[in-house]
Amino acid sequence: MNIPKHDVLLVGGGGAGLRAAIAAAEAYEGASIGVVSKVYPMRSHTVSAEGGTAAALRDDDSLDLHAYDTIKGSDFLADQDVVEKFVQDAVDEVIQLEHWGCPWSRDEDGRVSVRAFGGMSAKRTLYAADKTGFHMLHALFQTSLKYDAIQRYDEWFATSLLIDDGKVRGVTAINIRSGGVHAIAAKSVIICTGGAGKIFPFTTNAAIKTGDGMALAYRIGCPLKDLEFVQYHPTGLPGTGILMTEASRGEGGYMINSEGDRYLSEYVPGKMELGPRDILSRAFVHEMRAGRVFDGPYGNYVHLDLRHLGEKVIDEKLPFVRELTKNYVGIDPVYEPIPVRPVLHYCMGGVHTDIEGATPIPGLYAAGEAACVSMNGANRLGSNSLTECLVFGALSGRSAGQYALEQDYLDPYTIDRMAQDEQKRIETQFFGDGGKERVANIRDDLRSTMEQGVGIFRTDEELKATCETIRQLKERYQNVGLDDKSSVFNTELIAALELGYMLDVADGLAHSALQREESRGSHSRSDFEERDDEKFLQHSLAYQTDGDPRIEYLPVTLTRWEPEERKY
Ligand SMILES: Cc1cc2nc3c(=O)[nH]c(=O)nc-3n(C[C@H](O)[C@H](O)[C@H](O)COP(=O)(O)OP(=O)(O)OC[C@H]3O[C@@H](n4cnc5c(N)ncnc54)[C@H](O)[C@@H]3O)c2cc1C
Repeated sequence: MNIPKHDVLLVGGGGAGLRAAIAAAEAYEGASIGVVSKVYPMRSHTVSAEGGTAAALRDDDSLDLHAYDTIKGSDFLADQDVVEKFVQDAVDEVIQLEHWGCPWSRDEDGRVSVRAFGGMSAKRTLYAADKTGFHMLHALFQTSLKYDAIQRYDEWFATSLLIDDGKVRGVTAINIRSGGVHAIAAKSVIICTGGAGKIFPFTTNAAIKTGDGMALAYRIGCPLKDLEFVQYHPTGLPGTGILMTEASRGEGGYMINSEGDRYLSEYVPGKMELGPRDILSRAFVHEMRAGRVFDGPYGNYVHLDLRHLGEKVIDEKLPFVRELTKNYVGIDPVYEPIPVRPVLHYCMGGVHTDIEGATPIPGLYAAGEAACVSMNGANRLGSNSLTECLVFGALSGRSAGQYALEQDYLDPYTIDRMAQDEQKRIETQFFGDGGKERVANIRDDLRSTMEQGVGIFRTDEELKATCETIRQLKERYQNVGLDDKSSVFNTELIAALELGYMLDVADGLAHSALQREESRGSHSRSDFEERDDEKFLQHSLAYQTDGDPRIEYLPVTLTRWEPEERKY
């Protein structure tokens, strides 16, 4: 029986997945590594990251300052031991990436350039113009090609985690090109499937960000941590949601309301445009309620003004912003301000892991945006997450490799039977004749209820309504029917499976938000406006059950920084 097998299997070939694959390949002699990715790795969302990646490199900066900024940015929900590890390893990781060929932008004196980013008290964001993710992913991808131990499964779509005797033993996946469910045996599996921004209607996220890995872990009993915390980025283009990178403000751009004021002086006087994203997104809503915003075909917006930076700086530091605005809104930022509004950008929560990337399920690891190692807490600082992919990708790759050393493969007959069961499950659910519901309709309804109930501001009433709507949508999902019953490149089937993942993640998210009766970081309850450290200095853990998700809590790890009021 010819079932492929690997010591370490990655689900995901983005920044975290490729970094983990390289670390696992280096973990020990003879290790065999598989990388399953539903898109060609260079098309992972990491490729679209623009602004940069954080590490404390300069003399006016320090590891402690980077740690403090991250912890304060997280509204004290980050685990401080994790943050300390993160800032330390960040430095080595970005230098390592330089050695692997990442072309960082440089100053005149040859040093790697750094720029300002929101909530950071020193310039510590390394960048490659405003195409940082592209260059980082390219450096990782070309490095991964040097390892014979790494075998790729491009355009394979993972449908389930195989579990036996309480341990993860591989995955089932559809080869999208030829169809059919296949098993891949593994001694350990690392989930690196990225975020779930697509459960919201208006997002910077690529179409592939549907929370797949989070749901796969959730379905085998692994808790999802801090799901209620999702980040709105204050500067997306109305209509498309395309991101205007925070680097535009880092380089000196202004946010201007319809009265011509730099309105952030009202909200974050100490930082202005370089305030953290959660506060800037809320400031927009306050301005909107006060009637000081513009009205356009895609709703309200404010202006991001770069004109005073001049053409030379824009072309050198923000060429992609100019390209995007010219192509998508017909505006040249050298001469005109850019219309922007908050847009859903990032999931702080995800698969619950410890500092090494291990989940509570033996053999299962996670890293990158799909994971919640607890370094971002209630609000991530921009440019920390590319570095997170490097640091915790590497750590999880090493620890999964070590774990695999002491494990055996599950026998091929059992694995094959599991794959056949999975094939039957998918055929029965989607290829019967009865299903009247359409994927797109349920998906649209999911997105609009998420925006209504778990948007920038939340209330008990709206959250309960959203939880109930999701329950109904999950029922409707049982009656989904597909028009395309073919096997080759059946994108309708992939979309149906992704919708199942989205519903699971949305359900956990809405219930976690309902039960957190406080405001902290990105989670802003109009009915509980204060942060409540006594009750909620805790991570939420959502567990899947037959009914509503069960929410448990886990205390935050504090080391050297006492929680204080978060003011900028
Ligand atoms: C527009 C944009 C700009 C950003 N800019 C910055 C920035 O400047 N700095 C910063 O720090 N952060 C930035 N971020 C955030 C950061 O880019 C992401 O958090 C990070 O790149 C996520 O990397 P990842 O490896 O976890 O996941 P991804 O890069 O999203 O990769 C996910 C991988 O999982 C695979 N996958 C998913 N589901 C399945 C499945 N079912 N089966 C098989 N494979 C699957 C995909 O094929 C893909 O390879 C930005 C994000 C966006 C959207």
